[in-house]
Amino acid sequence: MKKLLLISILIILVVAIVFNIPYGIEAYRLEKAVAANAQLNRKNIDRIPVLMYHHISEDKTKWDSVTISPEKFREEMLYLKAVGYNTIHFKDYIDYVEQGKSLPDNPIIVTFDDGYLSNYQYAYPVLKQYDMKASIFIIGWSVGRKLHKDSVTPITEHFTWEQAKEMQQSGLIELQSHTYDLHNPSDEVNYGLGVSKLEKESVEQYKSRLETDAEKIEQLISQNIGGEVYAISYPYGSYNEYSESILKERGYRFTVTTQDGISDFGSSTYTVKRINMPSEIDSRSLIRQLLLKQQKNDYLPFEDEEDYQKRIKKLEKLYEVLKIYRSLKY
Ligand SMILES: [Zn+2]
Repeated sequence: MKKLLLISILIILVVAIVFNIPYGIEAYRLEKAVAANAQLNRKNIDRIPVLMYHHISEDKTKWDSVTISPEKFREEMLYLKAVGYNTIHFKDYIDYVEQGKSLPDNPIIVTFDDGYLSNYQYAYPVLKQYDMKASIFIIGWSVGRKLHKDSVTPITEHFTWEQAKEMQQSGLIELQSHTYDLHNPSDEVNYGLGVSKLEKESVEQYKSRLETDAEKIEQLISQNIGGEVYAISYPYGSYNEYSESILKERGYRFTVTTQDGISDFGSSTYTVKRINMPSEIDSRSLIRQLLLKQQKNDYLPFEDEEDYQKRIKKLEKLYEVLKIYRSLKY
C-alpha cells in the first residue's frame, strides 16, 4: 500500500513537471474514477454499450440526428478516452467468450452505419491518433459511389474498397454488413423498409431474397478486403423473425438495431441496442448519460468550459498526460 502511494506520488510529480500541475491533478482524479468505474463494470462486463454514428460533415446546415461535425466526433472520442473507456470490436467479445481472451476494462463499441467517405476522411484519422477501434457497416452496392443506381442522382459520397482495405488493415476498423441492397425506404418499388417482407411476396420468395442479398455482401467483402462477415446492422433498424433466423443460420453472431439502450451480450448478441450520438446533444451530456446508464461515476473533466474549441484543446492536453500516466502505471 505504501509502495503504491509512493509510485502514485512519483507519477504525479513526473507528469506535473513534464506538463503542468492542473493536468497532473486532473489525470490523478480521473484515474481514481476510472478504476472505480472498472470495478463496478466488472460485475456487468457483458453489458457493453454500442455507440451509433453515421455521417460527419463540416457543413453546419447538415448537422442533425445522424450527422455531426468533425470537432464533435473528436471531442467525444477524447471524452471516451478521458473517462477510461476502451474500444473493442464485436469480434473481441466472441474471442472473450469462446477463447477466454480478456476484455479491457470499461469496454465500449463505436459503430458507423452506411460507409460514408466522411468516416474515412474525418473519423479514421481521429481513431488512429488515439488508437481506438470502430466497426463500420457498409451497404454493398454503394461502396465508392457518389451517384445513385441511376448514375444521375447525387448521394452522400461513400468510401472506396481501397479505402476500406486501408482502414481494415490498420486493425482499428472492422467492416461488416449493412446489407448489399436492402437499405431502401418502403416507398421504393420492389423494396420493403430495410429487410422487411413485401406484401406481394410469399415467405419462400422473401427468404430467398434475403439469402441472395446476404450472399452478395458476404462475397463482396471477402473478395475486396477479405475477412468473414459475422455482424449486420439492420437498415432502419427493421428486422423480423425470418431475418433473424436466416442470418443466424448463415453464421452471423451479431445483429444490430437502432433501438436505444445497452444490451447484455451475456443474454444475447442479437438485436443489439445502440446509443445514438446526435448533433443536437452536447458531447458532455452524451458522455454523462452514458456513464449514468452504466451506473458509473459521472465525473467529467473540463465540463465548465463552455467554448468547445478550448475544451477540445484541454482534452487533447489531458490525453497526452493520461497516456504517460497510464503507461507508467501498467
Ligand atoms: Zn443505414
